[in-house]
Amino acid sequence: MKEQYNAVISKYWDDVATVKNFVGGEFVSGNGDKVVIQNAHDESELLSYPDAGADIIDMANKAAKAARKEWWGRTAQARGQVMFRIGAKLRENLDDLAVVEAYSSNKPIRDAKVEVSKVAEMFEYYAGWTDKLHGEVIPVPTSHLNYVKYEPLGTVLQITPWNAPIFTCGWQLAPAIAAGNSVILKPSELTPVSSILVAALAEQAGLTKGLINVIAGYGHTAGQMAIQTADIRKVVFVGSPVTGKKIAVSSAERGIPCVLELGGKSANIVFDDADLDLAVRGAQAAIFAGAGQSCVSGSRLLVQESIYDRFCEAVANAAKNFNIGNPHSADTQVGPIHNAKQYAHVTKMIDIAKAEGAEVVDNGLPSVPDKAGFYVNPTVLKGTNAMECAQEEIFGPVVVAIPFKDEDDAIAIANDSRFGLAGAVWTKDVGRAHRIADQVNAGTFWINSYKTINVASPFGGFGDSGYGRSSGIDALREYSEVKSVWVETARAPAMNFGYGANL
Ligand code: NAD
Repeated sequence: MKEQYNAVISKYWDDVATVKNFVGGEFVSGNGDKVVIQNAHDESELLSYPDAGADIIDMANKAAKAARKEWWGRTAQARGQVMFRIGAKLRENLDDLAVVEAYSSNKPIRDAKVEVSKVAEMFEYYAGWTDKLHGEVIPVPTSHLNYVKYEPLGTVLQITPWNAPIFTCGWQLAPAIAAGNSVILKPSELTPVSSILVAALAEQAGLTKGLINVIAGYGHTAGQMAIQTADIRKVVFVGSPVTGKKIAVSSAERGIPCVLELGGKSANIVFDDADLDLAVRGAQAAIFAGAGQSCVSGSRLLVQESIYDRFCEAVANAAKNFNIGNPHSADTQVGPIHNAKQYAHVTKMIDIAKAEGAEVVDNGLPSVPDKAGFYVNPTVLKGTNAMECAQEEIFGPVVVAIPFKDEDDAIAIANDSRFGLAGAVWTKDVGRAHRIADQVNAGTFWINSYKTINVASPFGGFGDSGYGRSSGIDALREYSEVKSVWVETARAPAMNFGYGANL
């Protein structure tokens, strides 16, 4: 995998052991403290690079400012064509991008391939929107014409996490540039490489030089410096609730709005009339795919009392068939936890759960953490909703199964959470499915399904899951300024002193 990674990177810059920023169309080195990316399989050093310093932020700011006019000056159709070409370029380079994503992000290669193709879809979807983001005529009760236009904000800052680096990069870049903005993107310091290549490939496909600038570095240094010094009009943040709140405060201090896409503790609700085989597979996909490191993970499994024990056992037992191991192997389904800090958090949360009285459903898997690498077995805990493991994001392959009596009980437990990102229900009763979907607090809800997402559909949450929306037309609105224009149309205009005439 290392040789493949080096071969891909050497197409972009010479010193493959480091990571460059992509600013103003050039690959440039930072000059700050050393950032080290670790191999989650054996804990060796994968890559290191200097944190982007103030000069890089300044360059990115100037490049983003300079690029905007050229990009917005193109026709909407021409911008759409470039975005279609970006989608095609990413597909042409799918294998290269997947290798980079898998290697530098400790992600199973099969997951990385799917995510790259999703990113291509995102550019293609928003390509189709560039000439459809039209304004509206408002029927005002006066002798005036009033119309509303959607204009670009200017430069936006995007800050993204390590768990889905290329996915969150495409997810935010595509609507931002479709709406005419330029971007400074700061991916997680642990996973910057795939975002850098996406930006470079976008320019190869015809994007204005400097429209997308990717800076590699820490959040508290590079990220904060960008919030505090760059000429940005919005911050779009994808990450943890704790950091999201810091970002909201720093943005507010500069009078800049933000969108926060944060964590979750989603309730996956299973009734005894569900197709149980499907629901078991759904419950596993909801929490064990990506080793549970997904914001929408079904980390609380609410199961009706009558089937609680056997359902928990079925979910735990089926984990025996997973290929768990080195993320760089082609057949790996469940890799390690991404990094040392996260591994310490997941294992600590399991210990806390046991101390609180949660019971681990024994699935016969050996205890993996004895060897090097940040491995955690897929774990089913029988617990209650009051336990810390049911209230705090674990962000690992650990699900807390909670019994419920009936519909009202299930809704009450599901909503007893400070998060509101996603959820699901499994039942054959159609009316009940819709009643539950109506009443559970979640930005996304699935009925007899889990984790189906598409760029055309809005995504976001509330409470500690954040605010604002990504995906679909909602993301274009987030990345646009609304301007209301008034035109006098009367034969004999009268200009009142105060409000305009005839209002
Ligand atoms: P994190 O909050 O630690 O970091 C996210 C980003 O913020 C990184 O780029 C980091 O460098 C930056 N950052 C950290 N401190 C900062 C500061 N003081 N100022 C500016 N930037 C700062 O999150 P993470 O651990 O990388 O990612 C995991 C979290 O992301 C989980 O909570 C997960 O649920 C969430 N997530 C949410 C979504 C969603 O769409 N809702 C999607 C993916 C991940």
